[in-house]
Amino acid sequence: MKIGIPRTLTYYAYFPMWQKFFQELGCEILVSERTTKAILDQGVYYTVNDACIPIKIFHGHVCSLKDKVDFIFIPRLINLTGAKTETYCPKFLGLADMVHASIEGLPAILDFHIDMREKFKDRYKEFARIGHMLETSPMKVTKAFHKARKHMAEYRKLISGKADRTRALSLMCEKNDIPVPSPDALSLAVVGYPYLIYDNLLNANLIDKLIKMDIQILTPEMVPVREQKKQSRYLPKDLFWTFSNQVVRSALYYMDNQNIDGIIHITAFGCGPDAMVDKLVELEAKQRNIPFICVSVDEHTGEGGIHTRLEAFVDMLEYRRDMI
Ligand code: SF4
Repeated sequence: MKIGIPRTLTYYAYFPMWQKFFQELGCEILVSERTTKAILDQGVYYTVNDACIPIKIFHGHVCSLKDKVDFIFIPRLINLTGAKTETYCPKFLGLADMVHASIEGLPAILDFHIDMREKFKDRYKEFARIGHMLETSPMKVTKAFHKARKHMAEYRKLISGKADRTRALSLMCEKNDIPVPSPDALSLAVVGYPYLIYDNLLNANLIDKLIKMDIQILTPEMVPVREQKKQSRYLPKDLFWTFSNQVVRSALYYMDNQNIDGIIHITAFGCGPDAMVDKLVELEAKQRNIPFICVSVDEHTGEGGIHTRLEAFVDMLEYRRDMI
């Protein structure tokens, strides 16, 4: 069985887990190529106008895979943490239906429903359904899922250790040639959803630009899960969405525990959850007198405009450092 995995959305957060899961089931995996202009254009063509750009790009990745695989993996990711009030963005929950309704000639969709708040017997029913689709036993699917979660926890530990952040960034950006920043480099927290931070086309090569500018880059994935959880005590209420909580908590962690020079929030134009996340991070940064910039992206974003804003922001941070 060949499973197609779109290189976007949950890919950037959970690929090691999906990879282990399908390997344990003896499936072959085909990941779509990195986002290109052609993938973006196809996504824009097939998706409703008012969807955010990550959802449009997801459709483009599905198109690029559809004639090469037996199944397309589009998980209905509801809850992986077990936290009672938390879910992923509603668009993740309905993604399989959106794709199914928009693109013709698709192979079967593996729309794995994952909600760790459910009782085991309900989860087992879902494992049995997936087992039936992949012609394997529910027990094998259950075991593969547990092994995959364990593998993911080990990967998270690896990337969230303080010792080697350049290596962590290399792993997350899938690049081998990221240089170590100089000891007096500016240190910036770059927060946002993983599919915005690590997709070069989506963020107009923002990370590459910062690397070239000799900036120490700190991202949410580098903050250990237990440290992220601790930050929620500083807020009157958690947000409803898992990735949004990760963004806010990691921003708070960097503001209070690391000597950062500034914060960049990458957001998608039209993102509902980010209407709250962006303001929250901006206000918390303002309270601590930490410079903040929001970079909003959509399908019309030009690299030149973003890079000019980044250069101006970094110039201002250098000037500020000299003045202190
Ligand atoms: S969180 Fe925002 S950017 Fe991400 S899928 Fe939902 S609406 Fe789109």
